[in-house]
Amino acid sequence: MKRRAFIRKTGLGVSAGLVSSSFLASCTAKGAGDTLVTSQKIAIVGAGAAGLYAATLLPGQEVTIFEATEKPGGRIRALKGFADFDLEAGSEEIKGKNSIWYDWVSSFNLSFVDNKGSQNYYTLDTILRKEADLATNTDFQAINDFINQATIYNGADRTVLTHLQQSRVPPRVYHVVNAALGNENGTSQNKISIKGLAEANQTASAGKDVFRLAGRTFNSVLEERCKAELLKVKYNTPIQRVVYDTMGVVLFDAAGIRYQFDKVIMTVPVSLYQNDDIIFSPPLPQTKVDAFKKIGMGAGMKIIMSFSRAFWPADTDSIFGRGVVPKYVVASRGRSTTNFILSATVMGDPVTALGTRPATIIPSILADLDSIFGRNAASTTLLKYQIIDWSQEPYTKGAYSYPIVGGGLAANRELAQPLLSRLFFAGEATHFGGHAGTVHGAMESARRAVEEVLRPG
Ligand SMILES: Cc1cc2nc3c(=O)[nH]c(=O)nc-3n(C[C@H](O)[C@H](O)[C@H](O)COP(=O)(O)OP(=O)(O)OC[C@H]3O[C@@H](n4cnc5c(N)ncnc54)[C@H](O)[C@@H]3O)c2cc1C
Repeated sequence: MKRRAFIRKTGLGVSAGLVSSSFLASCTAKGAGDTLVTSQKIAIVGAGAAGLYAATLLPGQEVTIFEATEKPGGRIRALKGFADFDLEAGSEEIKGKNSIWYDWVSSFNLSFVDNKGSQNYYTLDTILRKEADLATNTDFQAINDFINQATIYNGADRTVLTHLQQSRVPPRVYHVVNAALGNENGTSQNKISIKGLAEANQTASAGKDVFRLAGRTFNSVLEERCKAELLKVKYNTPIQRVVYDTMGVVLFDAAGIRYQFDKVIMTVPVSLYQNDDIIFSPPLPQTKVDAFKKIGMGAGMKIIMSFSRAFWPADTDSIFGRGVVPKYVVASRGRSTTNFILSATVMGDPVTALGTRPATIIPSILADLDSIFGRNAASTTLLKYQIIDWSQEPYTKGAYSYPIVGGGLAANRELAQPLLSRLFFAGEATHFGGHAGTVHGAMESARRAVEEVLRPG
């Protein structure tokens, strides 16, 4: 089953409520202790896939990109120096060929990891089984039937788990459904809406093929494609306040510096709106507030582990575990013959339970792998590990958006609505065509926002 090709209160003193254009006008004057930067016409907040791609679509415009961190890429990030090849700390798969992201990566003539001859392995009962050997396994058939039905589900809105509990899938294999429909979509099966998943699946158009890059990282591709745009990025500049009216938009950064623009495209993760990390004056309309409350974005982390030998079968692509990790990927396959690396992506409740002590997951992972492979295979061969906890990243606060019960594409669409033809919204969670939660979804949302920005009137 493929995944659906699948801010801080500043206390700066402007109260909520309508801000008159005279306020905006006053922002061009230098205030006590403030630095004045009267700036270009269009600002983009966030230098991730959406922000950088939006900038490429605005040639001839004066563009400034504000990025809170010291690097571009957002959730497309490389982990360098850990192994004899660079790893993906965030997004690692291109989900579908019919997408601008696939086109960008392909334009470099890079090689993808060859899937031919590789296998997914599943822990059913207590043993590890090859997917190729599971054609007649009744548990596996029940899982596949459930997942196939889930993609076209049109009944009452409920979580995947609630629906699962009313199915003929035996509880002993719920972990596989969680891996495919929960974890793969950025959360746990007790949180995600089956109706929302089906709606996204039926609307998505990118295709089902999945690609991993063999020789380079996604971040290096993004940086090379966006060389000119990177020159427009102001790093370490988190935007904390957005003041907008029919005349324009004023942004305030964390240092209290203000910048004035004709139009602004916001591309920050939905979690920042949910946490009130950016103050809007006037406040965002209730419809938009309701919308972002109806979009899920939960905890998520990647654990990258290096072992002294490959204790998994040589043809392994992925291992669907029964413990704390729903799915392990052999990240070194097709990339190194001397380093043996497993990458584990864990989303939702298990990550929330770890709180601020993410490393406590390591003993559980080793116990899980030891029980699958026997002879303390993992605990005696672990050389080192690296945890990238996206939930603890102050400018991401989670993994990626997913549909919750009562939400769905209507919520993504509402989040995307521009305000006063001045303030525009892009970023993966604003994609309302079934590609939310993906890189290509982020890029397509940027294209939509730029079309809105350039629309006359
Ligand atoms: C572990 C993990 C695995 C994933 N796997 C895949 C995958 O295999 N395939 C796939 O397609 N997608 C995957 N995704 C999802 C994909 O990475 C995202 O959907 C996509 O990168 C989001 O791009 P974006 O531009 O919308 O947001 P982001 O990449 O989050 O960019 C937003 C930018 O805004 C900045 N920012 C935030 N707040 C402020 C502020 N106040 N002021 C200024 N800047 C700010 C952030 O620092 C960030 O750089 C994965 C994500 C994670 C976390």
